[in-house]
Amino acid sequence: MELWFTEKHTKHVKFSIQVDKQIYSGRSEFQRIDLFDSPEFGRFLTLDGYMMLTEKDEFIYHEMIIHVPMAVHPQAKRVLVIGGGDGGAIRELVRYPGIEQIDLVEIDRQVVEVCKKFLPQTAGGLDDPRVSIHYEDGLKFVRTKDQAYDLIVVDSTDPFGPGEGLFTKEFYGNCYKALRADGLMVNQQESPFYPVDAVAMQRAHKRIVASFPVSRVYQAHIPTYPSGHWLFGFASKKDHPTKDFDPEAWLKLGLRTRYYNPDIHIGAFALPNYVKDLLEEVE
Ligand code: SAM
Repeated sequence: MELWFTEKHTKHVKFSIQVDKQIYSGRSEFQRIDLFDSPEFGRFLTLDGYMMLTEKDEFIYHEMIIHVPMAVHPQAKRVLVIGGGDGGAIRELVRYPGIEQIDLVEIDRQVVEVCKKFLPQTAGGLDDPRVSIHYEDGLKFVRTKDQAYDLIVVDSTDPFGPGEGLFTKEFYGNCYKALRADGLMVNQQESPFYPVDAVAMQRAHKRIVASFPVSRVYQAHIPTYPSGHWLFGFASKKDHPTKDFDPEAWLKLGLRTRYYNPDIHIGAFALPNYVKDLLEEVE
């Protein structure tokens, strides 16, 4: 007998992973949470049937969402992570000794509890004393913050369900207000490849461009996300992601990474023409 997890990437495309067994299945107030063990990707987490992370490729997503902004702003002391209850982004952040405080705002307590229990390799950093977890809607949390953070990381689900508010103009405007004068924001920005994802990506870009003076997009290859071609947004009040980036300073930190390095940092901002066209359409 064969067991397979299948996610529909479009109406006409399915992505399947063979499963050894299901580890957990539950329903929180916000979403359905499932964990599976698989021979190819190890353990993986899905929310409402959508892939969030696998043990095999999560390092790519988490290194790229954290080390790119931290290499541009290595003096960051106060960081806000919105979403990200799996702890992967936090695991990368706590490696920076200069960071003094990290607020994690995750709407769903059950995601954190399940990840702590079943994905310790990802969730380990959540116990770092600099981390405070707030079980709240990120959209509401940022409304009340003023010049409080050096870096905001939007590690959200897709722009429907509980994550919808994290792709709105109001949210990006409030993130701008919540950042200090040299602050920056990164967000997971969907894929440019399939039209349904590209529309969401363009919508987010348009709103971020309207809220921040500097707004660029960078890419990474994440095998288990739709099409494997994934984008991140980089927005800032002041710094440019490649011109204000000091590779030597980052290398001096001595952090061992499996995907990120200063060459990848520069290269990730070099986008294919079809992606440039999609972005320019909404700029
Ligand atoms: N890396 C993943 C991806 O791109 O597929 C997403 C990581 S993480 C598991 C996303 C988290 O965002 C989920 O745990 C979800 O509960 C949380 N989330 C969704 N909407 C939220 C909101 N409005 N405020 C705070 N957290 C939210």
